[in-house]
Amino acid sequence: MLLLLTPRIKFFYASLNFLLLIVYCLLLSPAYGKELSFEEENTANTITAPTSDTKKIQLSIGILSYTPSASLKNSPWEETFARLNTHKKYHFSPIFLSSEQLIDALENDQLDFVICDAISYVNFAKQHGILRLLTRSNYYSEQIISSEGLSVHVLNNNSKISQLNDLKNKNIGILDVNSSMSRLFLEYFLSQHDLVPNDNIFLGIIDNTQDALNQLYTGQFDALISKSGLIYSFEHQENGMIDKTPESFSPYAQKLRIINPHQDWQIPFLHSSILIPEWPIAKAWFIDETLANDVITSLLDNNIESASFFSDQYQWSIAKNYNAVSKLFFPDKIQQEYNTESSDNFSPKIQYWLSFIIICFLVIMLILHLHSSKGLNSKLTLSKESLEQEIKERQFAQEQALNHQAELAHVARLSTMGEMASGLAHELNQPLSAINTYVQGSIRRINMGTDKPEDLIYALQQTAQQAERAAGIIRRLRSFVRKGESHKTYSDINHLVNEVNHFLEIQLKNKNVKLILELENDLPPILADIIQIEQVLINLLKNAIESMSEIENPEIILRTKRRDHNLIELCVIDSGHGISKDKLKRIFNPFFTTKSSGMGMGLSISSSIIEAHNGTLYAKNNPILGAQFCFTLPTQEEFNQEEMLHKQST
Ligand code: ADP
Repeated sequence: MLLLLTPRIKFFYASLNFLLLIVYCLLLSPAYGKELSFEEENTANTITAPTSDTKKIQLSIGILSYTPSASLKNSPWEETFARLNTHKKYHFSPIFLSSEQLIDALENDQLDFVICDAISYVNFAKQHGILRLLTRSNYYSEQIISSEGLSVHVLNNNSKISQLNDLKNKNIGILDVNSSMSRLFLEYFLSQHDLVPNDNIFLGIIDNTQDALNQLYTGQFDALISKSGLIYSFEHQENGMIDKTPESFSPYAQKLRIINPHQDWQIPFLHSSILIPEWPIAKAWFIDETLANDVITSLLDNNIESASFFSDQYQWSIAKNYNAVSKLFFPDKIQQEYNTESSDNFSPKIQYWLSFIIICFLVIMLILHLHSSKGLNSKLTLSKESLEQEIKERQFAQEQALNHQAELAHVARLSTMGEMASGLAHELNQPLSAINTYVQGSIRRINMGTDKPEDLIYALQQTAQQAERAAGIIRRLRSFVRKGESHKTYSDINHLVNEVNHFLEIQLKNKNVKLILELENDLPPILADIIQIEQVLINLLKNAIESMSEIENPEIILRTKRRDHNLIELCVIDSGHGISKDKLKRIFNPFFTTKSSGMGMGLSISSSIIEAHNGTLYAKNNPILGAQFCFTLPTQEEFNQEEMLHKQST
């Protein structure tokens, strides 16, 4: 991911890190609170190193060393530091560190520069962002040698060792003058030939060339491994020979033979291993370019023309490309990272922490997102559940209301039936009396034997007709008091009026009420529960009759007519005492009654029945006498239109 960051962003993060570092130093430094000089700030970041010039800014150079207590004096680094410390502003101090110590110091940004072998360098470059400035070199016959190779020497007369595999189970001397050989490179070289130290090969490290050669000559070592050219150069110097053109890279002193010999343009000596670049000097990621330039300038001032042999002091030349080492030891993507970071000088440490912070941030965002969506889901589920619960409750309440209404209607009908009981008895009495008359007459005529059978048939037909009339009365009564659910059918309102008229005929007669029907012809059918609408009409007629109890010539007009386009209106107009203004507001309230034996439920139930049929029930006083109660009901056409609209919308 960090590889995708633009250099500008990287620079931003590097700057941010630098600022944080300063804040960190200010807060944690023992000198916090005092005014810090630049010198103090810089030394706070370095390992304590011996110095003679405290006025200069102190810089430390970590040097990889396999000798525990190496010192600058009499080491090949003397000249390097002598050159560096000619700088007016800076003082460079060497710190000899083992591989582990070096890693530790780099980890804590305690080193300003590093000198180490090529393999360690590519690793540190990747891990700590160090950047090579120059490569360690030596000179031979005016040729710059800045590659490192290993040579395996055996005595010429040694017939047992002819190839590298023959080194197995042998005693090998490792010549490592001034810890100059890369141990990692040696390990790699041996492992390429399945040679494992202290297992199938036995190594003895010697730092003196003469001693090492002596032990080889005397047979204490079967072979001697050294940096390529080291022994050759040593022998030539020892013999006082000045040989500017060594004969075709031939082995020296004729006594030694090199195993697995290779020639290469990079070094003028035979070598047994591959070649890798010599040790670089590298700057830490936080060292600026100006200082790095100063270091390069100081160290590059060489006079190669005078160099005939390996110098006992290390020289420096332009930095080599370490990509091949990186590829060899850290293949694939590590190679890419190495290439990228070295050109950008962007600290892998920062990359590591940035990656960590970004990953943490993404994880937190993910958790927050999951949490919030979970919360939202649970909220939605909760509101959905409560909505469903509310709908259920409403449905239940509606059902209850309908049940209640049906119950009330039923009670009202029963009470009406009780009131009409005498009238019904009278009504039933008529067909029953007629039946009795026809049957008695027929019996008499049969006994007398005077009548023809045709006369008897007429009497029997009349009997059957009267019986049917009685049955009809009882059927209507039963359906009237029937307790049932709403059942709507398309009906003719005038037919309904006639039915009710027939039903109340006797009652009307008893009260001497004149019923005038003003029914409009060709009315469209209404969709209604006939029993319920009949109930409403009976209630209204009953109230009208009662309102005229003290009136002479009581009269009711029952009028049906079309109102507007899709409504039918039915009005019951009486000539009673009418309704006072204050009562008019309350007559539809449940239990409102002005009658001693009244329930006050008739109008309330009627109103809700009409509303359930999408109609309206209303009352008003007549201009001169009495009141009128009217209700409207939608026609079939209205329902058809509604259905069509509903279908269109769905
Ligand atoms: P109830 O008939 O048992 O009193 P209703 O709900 O049918 O119950 O009537 C409520 C009241 O409305 C009656 O008590 C009466 O005062 C008044 N009322 C109803 N119809 C008429 C009418 N046609 N003329 C005058 N008053 C009426």
